[in-house]
Amino acid sequence: MKNFLFQTVPVLHFGVGCLAELPGQIAALRASRPMIVTDKGIVDAGLIAPVEETLKVAGLAVTIFDAVTADPPEKTVLQAIDAAKSADVDIVIGLGGGSSLDTAKVVAALAVDDAQPLQEIYGVGALARKGLPTILIPTTSGTGSEVTAISILTTGETTKAGIVSPHLFADVALLDPALTRGLPADVTAATGIDAMVHAIEAYTSHNGKNPVSDMLAIEALKLLTAHIETACSDGSDMIAREAMLRGSMLAGQAFANSPVGAIHALAYPLGGIYHIPHGLSNALVMPYVMQFNLEAAAPLYAELADALAIPCGAENSDEARAQNLIDHLETLAVKVKAPRKLRDIGIAKEATSELAETAMLQTRLLVNNPKEVALADAQRIYDAAW
Ligand SMILES: [Zn+2]
Repeated sequence: MKNFLFQTVPVLHFGVGCLAELPGQIAALRASRPMIVTDKGIVDAGLIAPVEETLKVAGLAVTIFDAVTADPPEKTVLQAIDAAKSADVDIVIGLGGGSSLDTAKVVAALAVDDAQPLQEIYGVGALARKGLPTILIPTTSGTGSEVTAISILTTGETTKAGIVSPHLFADVALLDPALTRGLPADVTAATGIDAMVHAIEAYTSHNGKNPVSDMLAIEALKLLTAHIETACSDGSDMIAREAMLRGSMLAGQAFANSPVGAIHALAYPLGGIYHIPHGLSNALVMPYVMQFNLEAAAPLYAELADALAIPCGAENSDEARAQNLIDHLETLAVKVKAPRKLRDIGIAKEATSELAETAMLQTRLLVNNPKEVALADAQRIYDAAW
């Protein structure tokens, strides 16, 4: 067996009602001046009020930064850092989907004296040290951002760039499935498929794949595929909601160590250029990238098909079982009514060449793909997805 490294957040609180642990966790981190980093949607959904109330009851004065937007631009992150510094906060609490949690991680890292400039910390391992303590509270079951050491920001107009550093791991991840109860069906579907993609790409990653991430990826994919339909059709089903949040967390722990590949690399330009939500972007390119990968990844896809107990016919070769996995995921995506083609979301056929060129810039991700992706391959994949 190869040597491996596995890292995750030191403290996980999971379960309905565990939001109540927040004041105690802040105290345990010896902090008392929290800033909540979130977005207007969370405020409008009524999710911030109970958190604010919990903190006020505990005697804590709260600063709220609620200007995070999807595909967070650098400008917003810099504003949040300024707000944190001027309020002299000593702990950052991210509340929301991936954009809010990713922003919170960078704000915590840089809202300290002598912080590096934001420009310097992009890439893998460029962030030199840990900043303020962080508690992350997800309100979607998708990104797994609460347990990853990755933040994705939008630089310039359209490019998505990642900051990857163990210093971005939260001190505490607090996962309360009750916070996901109100998620609309389309968001539940797209974020759930994103989480499945995390599990699949972690399991087939060319770098960092290890026995712990494998175990997490398999359990994640079992939970997510078994519960996504119910979570979408009956959002108040807390068994399904709990399973989806648990699945997305486990997938997050897996890909934090065994990083994602070409599905994400080809999804990012859809977010960067067209502001298609991250989960939906992944859902749209997933089957076509998997089909492209099949040649190299068939044995691993076959293992996942077996783990999900997908029935195989008379033909039970790796290739046949791998194809069954791709077909099974596509069937699920159709059942949860995720858009299936780029043309369905208003993308012009001519746009695919710009998408392919932009995807090739995601070298950080493409190196993890089980099969090398050239520009012509990316073009063919987008053409198939169109
Ligand atoms: Zn993702």
